[in-house]
Amino acid sequence: MTNTSTGSPEIHGYHAHVYYNPETFSAAAKLRETLAANFPVQVGRLSDAPVGPHPVSQFAAIFKTDAFQTVVPWLMLNREGLDILIHPLTEDMVDDHTVYALWLGSPINLKLDTLQRRGYGTALLPAA
Ligand code: ZN
Repeated sequence: MTNTSTGSPEIHGYHAHVYYNPETFSAAAKLRETLAANFPVQVGRLSDAPVGPHPVSQFAAIFKTDAFQTVVPWLMLNREGLDILIHPLTEDMVDDHTVYALWLGSPINLKLDTLQRRGYGTALLPAA
């Protein structure tokens, strides 16, 4: 679906993916707890194994569009050196993870061949 006044795809919410490694695991775990306790986000499990397009350990936070302005500036200032991908949830996963992606820190080479040009199942969208 397209927003007819601007020509932009409609955004159904956002994901923030916080990447970590064994050295930064505890910083990521703390960030996850702080996010869950203080912001209107749904946090996923700390996933040590690669999942989907994410080639390294990460956890995801799912949030609605109106939470962007509180969540993203906080992450900018509190990411503790962790690399974070923030991507919109449109009807095109490939664009979301490439041309629409916002990176805090250093971008990670995503496995784009795991993505399809379609939207997301309900489990990956913000809860109503
Ligand atoms: Zn995502």
